[in-house]
Amino acid sequence: MTLGQILVEVTLASGEKGIGVGGGGKSGVHVIDTVLKECLLETDMDTPHQLHKVMCDHTSFYGRKGLVPMAISGVDLAIWDAYGKSVGKSVYELLTDVPPPAVLPMYQTVFDDAEAELAVKDGKQAVKLHVERFGDRPKPEEIGELVRSTRMRLGEGKAIMLDAFGRWNVDTTLAVAHEITQYDVEWIEEPVRPDQLEDYVTLNRESPIPIAGGEHEYLEEGFLALAASKAVSVFQPDINWCGGLTSLIQIYRIAEDAAIRVVPHRGSEPYSLPAIAALDREQPLAESARSWFDCLNGMAEVTPAGVELLLSPGFGVSLNT
Ligand SMILES: [Mg+2]
Repeated sequence: MTLGQILVEVTLASGEKGIGVGGGGKSGVHVIDTVLKECLLETDMDTPHQLHKVMCDHTSFYGRKGLVPMAISGVDLAIWDAYGKSVGKSVYELLTDVPPPAVLPMYQTVFDDAEAELAVKDGKQAVKLHVERFGDRPKPEEIGELVRSTRMRLGEGKAIMLDAFGRWNVDTTLAVAHEITQYDVEWIEEPVRPDQLEDYVTLNRESPIPIAGGEHEYLEEGFLALAASKAVSVFQPDINWCGGLTSLIQIYRIAEDAAIRVVPHRGSEPYSLPAIAALDREQPLAESARSWFDCLNGMAEVTPAGVELLLSPGFGVSLNT
């Protein structure tokens, strides 16, 4: 039961086409058809940043979070794709003049023990364990045992992260954090619901393990609020939901000012990867792609060393019909 991803195609006045992926399913399509399309066609602005601002300004009374930014994301990404193609540059090259890294470090997200086993066997450099199957109030010892056995199999020097998908509370999170401190865990992700800001502030202050979040946060304003309240130590914006590449660029700037790390959600997929490579020179890290993200050709190659950046014009994607 999800709203589903949406595919967006834009055509520039020059005739160049671009493809983007956003969220919000049919509701997202409705937002584009009834509002975004018209407000873009009526403007004579022409840079991706300007067009993004037009869309955000026009929808700000009802669309600061959730569905509308998810729809804007798809349009924004399609505009960037078309813009890159029109000037013959990859999005990476639009973002920086620095020569690209050959490969980016990657972490594998796993949902059960079998996937974790496979990730270890494949020599993945880092593994994130989803722990929803342990329920809303897991015994800290259960999570402790999972992390201990993963650390034993993975060895030292490789990162382990946990993702609670917003199901815990402050007490559970702190109890688990103390239980697993000895296993060198990189972060605990979305320990509580995304809108429980005060709980995030408490956890980010008191947890011995860094707190990550932002997978379900939107636009510049949303991330400014997270940074101002010191709610998380790691931002995890999803480029297909948070407002697109224009928002992701703004989020990297906010993070830099606040000394917050950025590790985009599903970062190995083609839309986030160039931003990670171009905008994070210190600790770039790309999350493994989701198996359901299969509508496009042009997915990056994954090797034991990490994920390879492609440098075709735009995002280098085409429709997988
Ligand atoms: Mg997550």
